[in-house]
Amino acid sequence: MIAKQITIIGFGLIGSSLARIIRRDNLAARIVCGDQSDVVCHKVMELKLADAATTDIAESVKGSDLVILAMPVGASGQVAQAISRTLEQGAVVTDVGSVKQSVIAAVKPHLPPHVDFVPAHPIAGTEHSGPEAGFPELFIGRWAILTPLPDTPLNAIETVTKLWEATGANLEFMEPRRHDLVLAITSHLPHLIAYTIVGTASDLEDHLKADVIKFSASGFRDFTRIAASDPIMWRDIFVNNQDAVLEIVQRFNEDLTGLQRAIRYGDAQALQDMFTRTRAIRRQVIDAKQADYRYPNKSPEAVPQPADPRKASGSAT
Ligand code: NAP
Repeated sequence: MIAKQITIIGFGLIGSSLARIIRRDNLAARIVCGDQSDVVCHKVMELKLADAATTDIAESVKGSDLVILAMPVGASGQVAQAISRTLEQGAVVTDVGSVKQSVIAAVKPHLPPHVDFVPAHPIAGTEHSGPEAGFPELFIGRWAILTPLPDTPLNAIETVTKLWEATGANLEFMEPRRHDLVLAITSHLPHLIAYTIVGTASDLEDHLKADVIKFSASGFRDFTRIAASDPIMWRDIFVNNQDAVLEIVQRFNEDLTGLQRAIRYGDAQALQDMFTRTRAIRRQVIDAKQADYRYPNKSPEAVPQPADPRKASGSAT
Protein backbone atom coordinates (compact mmCIF):
# COMPACT_ATOMS: atom_id res chain seq x y z
CA MET A 1 0.00 0.00 0.00
CA ILE A 2 1.23 3.47 -0.80
CA ALA A 3 -1.70 5.39 0.74
CA LYS A 4 -4.73 4.81 2.91
CA GLN A 5 -6.96 6.74 0.53
CA ILE A 6 -6.26 8.06 -2.98
CA THR A 7 -8.38 10.70 -4.69
CA ILE A 8 -8.27 10.95 -8.47
CA ILE A 9 -9.61 14.22 -9.86
CA GLY A 10 -10.63 13.84 -13.52
CA PHE A 11 -11.58 10.20 -14.00
CA GLY A 12 -10.94 9.81 -17.73
CA LEU A 13 -8.54 7.64 -19.72
CA ILE A 14 -5.51 8.31 -17.51
CA GLY A 15 -7.32 8.64 -14.16
CA SER A 16 -9.35 5.47 -14.64
CA SER A 17 -6.32 3.50 -15.87
CA LEU A 18 -4.51 4.47 -12.66
CA ALA A 19 -7.58 3.54 -10.59
CA ARG A 20 -7.64 0.09 -12.18
CA ILE A 21 -3.96 -0.41 -11.26
CA ILE A 22 -4.47 0.92 -7.71
CA ARG A 23 -7.34 -1.56 -7.26
CA ARG A 24 -5.50 -4.47 -8.88
CA ASP A 25 -2.36 -4.00 -6.77
CA ASN A 26 -4.16 -2.90 -3.62
CA LEU A 27 -2.13 0.33 -3.50
CA ALA A 28 -4.77 2.05 -1.34
CA ALA A 29 -7.58 0.92 0.95
CA ARG A 30 -9.98 3.40 -0.66
CA ILE A 31 -10.27 5.24 -3.98
CA VAL A 32 -12.31 8.43 -4.33
CA CYS A 33 -13.32 9.94 -7.66
CA GLY A 34 -13.68 13.73 -7.98
CA ASP A 35 -14.98 14.71 -11.40
CA GLN A 36 -16.93 17.71 -12.64
CA SER A 37 -19.24 15.41 -14.58
CA ASP A 38 -22.22 13.71 -12.96
CA VAL A 39 -22.28 11.20 -15.79
CA VAL A 40 -18.62 10.28 -15.19
CA CYS A 41 -19.18 9.89 -11.42
CA HIS A 42 -22.13 7.63 -12.11
CA LYS A 43 -20.15 5.55 -14.60
CA VAL A 44 -17.19 5.22 -12.21
CA MET A 45 -19.46 3.79 -9.50
CA GLU A 46 -21.21 1.51 -12.00
CA LEU A 47 -17.81 0.16 -13.13
CA LYS A 48 -16.76 -0.16 -9.45
CA LEU A 49 -13.60 1.84 -10.15
CA ALA A 50 -13.89 3.88 -6.93
CA ASP A 51 -15.43 3.56 -3.48
CA ALA A 52 -17.01 7.00 -3.70
CA ALA A 53 -17.54 9.57 -6.44
CA THR A 54 -18.51 13.21 -6.21
CA THR A 55 -18.69 16.36 -8.30
CA ASP A 56 -17.77 18.33 -5.16
CA ILE A 57 -14.04 18.58 -5.87
CA ALA A 58 -13.18 20.17 -2.50
CA GLU A 59 -14.99 17.36 -0.66
CA SER A 60 -13.31 14.63 -2.75
CA VAL A 61 -9.84 15.15 -1.22
CA LYS A 62 -10.94 14.94 2.42
CA GLY A 63 -9.19 12.03 4.15
CA SER A 64 -6.84 11.32 1.21
CA ASP A 65 -3.09 11.09 1.65
CA LEU A 66 -2.48 11.01 -2.12
CA VAL A 67 -4.32 13.20 -4.62
CA ILE A 68 -3.84 12.69 -8.37
CA LEU A 69 -4.86 15.55 -10.66
CA ALA A 70 -5.89 13.90 -13.94
CA MET A 71 -8.15 16.48 -15.57
CA PRO A 72 -7.18 18.64 -18.60
CA VAL A 73 -4.22 20.91 -17.76
CA GLY A 74 -6.24 24.10 -18.30
CA ALA A 75 -8.28 23.31 -15.17
CA SER A 76 -5.20 22.94 -12.93
CA GLY A 77 -5.38 26.34 -11.19
CA GLN A 78 -9.12 26.16 -10.64
CA VAL A 79 -8.92 22.63 -9.17
CA ALA A 80 -5.91 23.47 -6.96
CA GLN A 81 -7.79 26.45 -5.58
CA ALA A 82 -10.88 24.32 -4.94
CA ILE A 83 -8.96 21.73 -2.89
CA SER A 84 -6.56 24.09 -1.12
CA ARG A 85 -8.57 24.23 2.12
CA THR A 86 -9.62 20.59 2.31
CA LEU A 87 -6.30 18.86 1.61
CA GLU A 88 -5.15 16.79 4.59
CA GLN A 89 -2.04 17.62 6.60
CA GLY A 90 0.92 15.81 4.97
CA ALA A 91 -0.98 14.88 1.80
CA VAL A 92 0.95 14.40 -1.44
CA VAL A 93 -0.47 15.97 -4.60
CA THR A 94 0.69 14.79 -8.00
CA ASP A 95 -0.59 15.28 -11.55
CA VAL A 96 -0.41 13.62 -14.96
CA GLY A 97 -0.59 16.72 -17.15
CA SER A 98 1.07 16.77 -20.57
CA VAL A 99 2.65 20.17 -19.84
CA LYS A 100 4.70 20.82 -16.72
CA GLN A 101 5.77 24.48 -16.32
CA SER A 102 2.29 25.98 -16.60
CA VAL A 103 0.74 23.29 -14.37
CA ILE A 104 3.36 23.95 -11.68
CA ALA A 105 2.75 27.70 -11.96
CA ALA A 106 -1.02 27.18 -11.71
CA VAL A 107 -1.05 24.62 -8.87
CA LYS A 108 1.81 25.49 -6.53
CA PRO A 109 0.58 28.89 -5.28
CA HIS A 110 -2.69 27.34 -4.08
CA LEU A 111 -1.18 24.47 -2.09
CA PRO A 112 -0.83 24.95 1.67
CA PRO A 113 2.66 24.49 3.19
CA HIS A 114 1.65 21.17 4.80
CA VAL A 115 1.14 19.56 1.37
CA ASP A 116 3.85 18.35 -1.07
CA PHE A 117 3.56 18.54 -4.86
CA VAL A 118 5.24 16.05 -7.23
CA PRO A 119 4.47 16.94 -10.86
CA ALA A 120 4.49 13.95 -13.23
CA HIS A 121 3.55 12.97 -16.77
CA PRO A 122 3.10 9.49 -18.25
CA ILE A 123 4.05 9.31 -21.93
CA ALA A 124 1.24 6.92 -22.73
CA GLY A 125 -2.23 7.32 -24.07
CA THR A 126 -4.77 6.55 -26.72
CA GLU A 127 -7.15 8.77 -28.66
CA HIS A 128 -10.05 7.52 -26.49
CA SER A 129 -11.45 9.40 -23.47
CA GLY A 130 -13.55 8.73 -20.39
CA PRO A 131 -13.61 6.15 -17.58
CA GLU A 132 -14.51 3.28 -19.91
CA ALA A 133 -11.47 3.96 -22.10
CA GLY A 134 -8.95 3.20 -19.34
CA PHE A 135 -7.12 -0.10 -18.98
CA PRO A 136 -4.39 -1.20 -16.55
CA GLU A 137 -1.79 -2.11 -19.19
CA LEU A 138 -1.71 1.41 -20.65
CA PHE A 139 1.61 2.44 -19.10
CA ILE A 140 3.61 -0.79 -19.44
CA GLY A 141 7.02 -0.11 -20.97
CA ARG A 142 6.23 3.59 -21.49
CA TRP A 143 7.99 6.47 -19.77
CA ALA A 144 6.66 8.26 -16.72
CA ILE A 145 8.49 11.56 -16.29
CA LEU A 146 8.68 13.13 -12.83
CA THR A 147 9.60 16.81 -12.57
CA PRO A 148 9.92 17.38 -8.81
CA LEU A 149 10.57 20.89 -7.53
CA PRO A 150 13.72 21.84 -5.62
CA ASP A 151 11.75 21.86 -2.35
CA THR A 152 9.88 18.57 -2.92
CA PRO A 153 10.75 16.20 -0.03
CA LEU A 154 12.17 12.78 -0.87
CA ASN A 155 9.37 10.82 0.83
CA ALA A 156 6.77 12.52 -1.41
CA ILE A 157 8.83 11.68 -4.50
CA GLU A 158 9.09 8.10 -3.23
CA THR A 159 5.30 7.76 -2.93
CA VAL A 160 4.76 8.93 -6.51
CA THR A 161 7.66 6.77 -7.73
CA LYS A 162 5.99 3.70 -6.19
CA LEU A 163 2.74 4.55 -7.96
CA TRP A 164 4.44 4.71 -11.36
CA GLU A 165 6.55 1.63 -10.72
CA ALA A 166 3.32 -0.30 -10.13
CA THR A 167 2.06 0.75 -13.58
CA GLY A 168 4.99 -0.96 -15.32
CA ALA A 169 6.29 2.36 -16.66
CA ASN A 170 9.97 3.31 -16.81
CA LEU A 171 10.78 6.34 -14.67
CA GLU A 172 12.75 9.41 -15.66
CA PHE A 173 13.42 12.65 -13.77
CA MET A 174 13.58 15.91 -15.71
CA GLU A 175 13.54 19.68 -15.36
CA PRO A 176 10.03 21.01 -16.16
CA ARG A 177 11.35 23.32 -18.92
CA ARG A 178 13.23 20.51 -20.63
CA HIS A 179 10.15 18.29 -20.37
CA ASP A 180 8.01 20.90 -22.15
CA LEU A 181 10.54 21.36 -24.95
CA VAL A 182 11.05 17.63 -25.51
CA LEU A 183 7.29 17.01 -25.54
CA ALA A 184 6.73 19.94 -27.90
CA ILE A 185 8.68 18.06 -30.57
CA THR A 186 7.81 14.44 -29.77
CA SER A 187 4.11 14.92 -29.12
CA HIS A 188 2.72 18.43 -29.55
CA LEU A 189 4.14 19.18 -33.02
CA PRO A 190 3.04 15.78 -34.46
CA HIS A 191 -0.46 16.41 -33.13
CA LEU A 192 -0.47 19.93 -34.58
CA ILE A 193 0.58 18.55 -37.97
CA ALA A 194 -2.08 15.84 -37.81
CA TYR A 195 -4.77 18.38 -36.91
CA THR A 196 -3.59 20.57 -39.82
CA ILE A 197 -3.52 17.79 -42.43
CA VAL A 198 -6.93 16.44 -41.44
CA GLY A 199 -8.26 20.02 -41.27
CA THR A 200 -6.96 20.70 -44.80
CA ALA A 201 -8.68 17.53 -46.03
CA SER A 202 -11.95 18.49 -44.37
CA ASP A 203 -11.90 21.80 -46.29
CA LEU A 204 -11.63 20.06 -49.67
CA GLU A 205 -14.52 20.03 -52.10
CA ASP A 206 -16.90 17.10 -51.50
CA HIS A 207 -15.84 14.98 -54.51
CA LEU A 208 -12.14 15.17 -53.51
CA LYS A 209 -12.91 14.57 -49.85
CA ALA A 210 -14.72 11.33 -50.72
CA ASP A 211 -11.61 10.02 -52.49
CA VAL A 212 -9.37 11.09 -49.61
CA ILE A 213 -11.44 8.93 -47.24
CA LYS A 214 -11.57 6.06 -49.76
CA PHE A 215 -7.79 5.97 -50.24
CA SER A 216 -6.87 7.01 -46.71
CA ALA A 217 -4.83 3.86 -46.03
CA SER A 218 -1.99 5.43 -48.02
CA GLY A 219 -0.90 7.51 -45.01
CA PHE A 220 -3.77 9.86 -44.19
CA ARG A 221 -5.39 7.21 -41.98
CA ASP A 222 -2.60 7.42 -39.37
CA PHE A 223 -3.05 11.19 -39.12
CA THR A 224 -6.80 10.81 -38.62
CA ARG A 225 -6.17 8.62 -35.59
CA ILE A 226 -3.97 11.25 -33.96
CA ALA A 227 -6.33 14.06 -35.00
CA ALA A 228 -9.19 12.23 -33.27
CA SER A 229 -7.58 12.95 -29.87
CA ASP A 230 -9.62 14.83 -27.27
CA PRO A 231 -10.20 18.45 -28.43
CA ILE A 232 -10.32 19.95 -24.93
CA MET A 233 -7.18 18.23 -23.76
CA TRP A 234 -5.29 19.37 -26.86
CA ARG A 235 -6.66 22.89 -26.76
CA ASP A 236 -5.26 23.13 -23.22
CA ILE A 237 -1.89 21.64 -24.17
CA PHE A 238 -1.25 24.18 -26.95
CA VAL A 239 -2.41 27.14 -24.87
CA ASN A 240 -0.30 26.00 -21.91
CA ASN A 241 2.89 25.08 -23.77
CA GLN A 242 2.87 28.15 -25.98
CA ASP A 243 6.58 29.10 -25.86
CA ALA A 244 8.02 25.64 -26.47
CA VAL A 245 5.50 24.82 -29.21
CA LEU A 246 6.10 28.13 -31.01
CA GLU A 247 9.86 27.58 -30.86
CA ILE A 248 9.55 24.11 -32.37
CA VAL A 249 7.00 25.24 -34.99
CA GLN A 250 9.45 27.96 -36.06
CA ARG A 251 12.17 25.37 -36.63
CA PHE A 252 9.72 23.06 -38.39
CA ASN A 253 8.64 25.86 -40.74
CA GLU A 254 12.26 26.53 -41.69
CA ASP A 255 12.87 22.84 -42.41
CA LEU A 256 9.64 22.57 -44.39
CA THR A 257 10.67 25.58 -46.48
CA GLY A 258 13.99 23.83 -47.15
CA LEU A 259 12.17 20.74 -48.42
CA GLN A 260 9.79 22.89 -50.47
CA ARG A 261 12.81 24.53 -52.09
CA ALA A 262 14.46 21.16 -52.81
CA ILE A 263 11.26 19.95 -54.51
CA ARG A 264 10.89 23.19 -56.50
CA TYR A 265 14.47 23.01 -57.82
CA GLY A 266 14.39 19.24 -58.31
CA ASP A 267 17.22 18.79 -55.79
CA ALA A 268 16.87 15.00 -55.60
CA GLN A 269 20.07 14.57 -53.58
CA ALA A 270 18.85 16.93 -50.81
CA LEU A 271 15.59 15.00 -50.56
CA GLN A 272 17.33 11.64 -50.50
CA ASP A 273 19.79 12.80 -47.84
CA MET A 274 16.97 14.06 -45.65
CA PHE A 275 14.88 10.87 -46.02
CA THR A 276 17.94 8.72 -45.27
CA ARG A 277 18.53 10.68 -42.08
CA THR A 278 14.90 10.29 -40.97
CA ARG A 279 14.96 6.56 -41.69
CA ALA A 280 17.86 6.25 -39.25
CA ILE A 281 15.79 7.98 -36.57
CA ARG A 282 13.06 5.38 -37.05
CA ARG A 283 15.68 2.68 -36.45
CA GLN A 284 16.66 4.38 -33.19
CA VAL A 285 13.02 4.56 -32.06
CA ILE A 286 12.63 0.82 -32.72
CA ASP A 287 15.88 0.07 -30.86
CA ALA A 288 14.61 2.15 -27.91
CA LYS A 289 11.51 -0.13 -27.87
CA GLN A 290 9.18 2.83 -28.42
CA ALA A 291 7.89 1.84 -31.86
CA ASP A 292 5.18 -0.63 -30.91
CA TYR A 293 1.98 1.03 -29.75
CA ARG A 294 1.53 -1.73 -27.22
CA TYR A 295 3.65 -2.91 -24.28
CA PRO A 296 7.08 -2.42 -25.89
CA ASN A 297 9.06 -4.09 -23.12
CA LYS A 298 6.92 -7.15 -22.65
CA SER A 299 6.36 -10.21 -24.77
CA PRO A 300 2.74 -10.41 -25.98
CA GLU A 301 2.03 -13.50 -23.89
CA ALA A 302 3.26 -11.75 -20.73
CA VAL A 303 0.67 -9.02 -21.07
CA PRO A 304 -3.10 -9.42 -20.72
CA GLN A 305 -4.73 -8.00 -23.82
CA PRO A 306 -7.54 -5.46 -23.40
CA ALA A 307 -10.95 -6.80 -24.37
CA ASP A 308 -11.30 -4.08 -26.99
CA PRO A 309 -8.23 -4.05 -29.25
CA ARG A 310 -8.92 -0.41 -30.25
CA LYS A 311 -7.88 0.57 -26.76
CA ALA A 312 -4.36 -0.62 -27.46
CA SER A 313 -3.69 1.82 -30.27
CA GLY A 314 -1.55 4.59 -28.96
CA SER A 315 -1.04 8.31 -29.27
CA ALA A 316 1.19 9.04 -26.34
CA THR A 317 1.08 12.59 -25.13
P1 NAP B 1 -10.27 12.50 -20.37
O1 NAP B 1 -10.39 11.06 -20.69
O2 NAP B 1 -10.94 13.49 -21.26
O3 NAP B 1 -10.79 12.73 -18.87
C1 NAP B 1 -10.71 13.95 -18.21
C2 NAP B 1 -11.78 13.98 -17.13
O4 NAP B 1 -11.58 15.17 -16.35
C3 NAP B 1 -13.19 14.06 -17.69
O5 NAP B 1 -14.03 13.18 -16.98
C4 NAP B 1 -13.56 15.52 -17.45
O6 NAP B 1 -14.97 15.73 -17.31
C5 NAP B 1 -12.85 15.77 -16.15
N1 NAP B 1 -12.67 17.20 -15.88
C6 NAP B 1 -12.51 18.21 -16.75
N2 NAP B 1 -12.37 19.38 -16.08
C7 NAP B 1 -12.49 19.08 -14.77
C8 NAP B 1 -12.48 19.87 -13.58
N3 NAP B 1 -12.30 21.18 -13.62
N4 NAP B 1 -12.64 19.24 -12.40
C9 NAP B 1 -12.81 17.90 -12.35
N5 NAP B 1 -12.85 17.11 -13.44
C10 NAP B 1 -12.68 17.69 -14.63
O7 NAP B 1 -8.75 12.97 -20.28
P2 NAP B 1 -7.40 12.12 -20.24
O8 NAP B 1 -7.04 11.71 -21.61
O9 NAP B 1 -7.46 11.10 -19.16
O10 NAP B 1 -6.34 13.26 -19.84
C11 NAP B 1 -6.30 13.75 -18.53
C12 NAP B 1 -4.96 14.39 -18.26
O11 NAP B 1 -3.92 13.47 -18.59
C13 NAP B 1 -4.69 15.66 -19.06
O12 NAP B 1 -4.08 16.61 -18.24
C14 NAP B 1 -3.70 15.21 -20.12
O13 NAP B 1 -2.82 16.27 -20.47
C15 NAP B 1 -2.96 14.08 -19.42
N6 NAP B 1 -2.45 13.03 -20.32
C16 NAP B 1 -3.25 12.53 -21.29
C17 NAP B 1 -2.75 11.54 -22.13
C18 NAP B 1 -3.59 10.97 -23.25
O14 NAP B 1 -3.06 10.47 -24.22
N7 NAP B 1 -4.91 11.03 -23.16
C19 NAP B 1 -1.45 11.06 -21.94
C20 NAP B 1 -0.69 11.57 -20.89
C21 NAP B 1 -1.19 12.57 -20.08
P3 NAP B 1 -15.85 16.09 -18.63
O15 NAP B 1 -16.09 14.79 -19.29
O16 NAP B 1 -17.07 16.75 -18.07
O17 NAP B 1 -15.02 17.04 -19.46
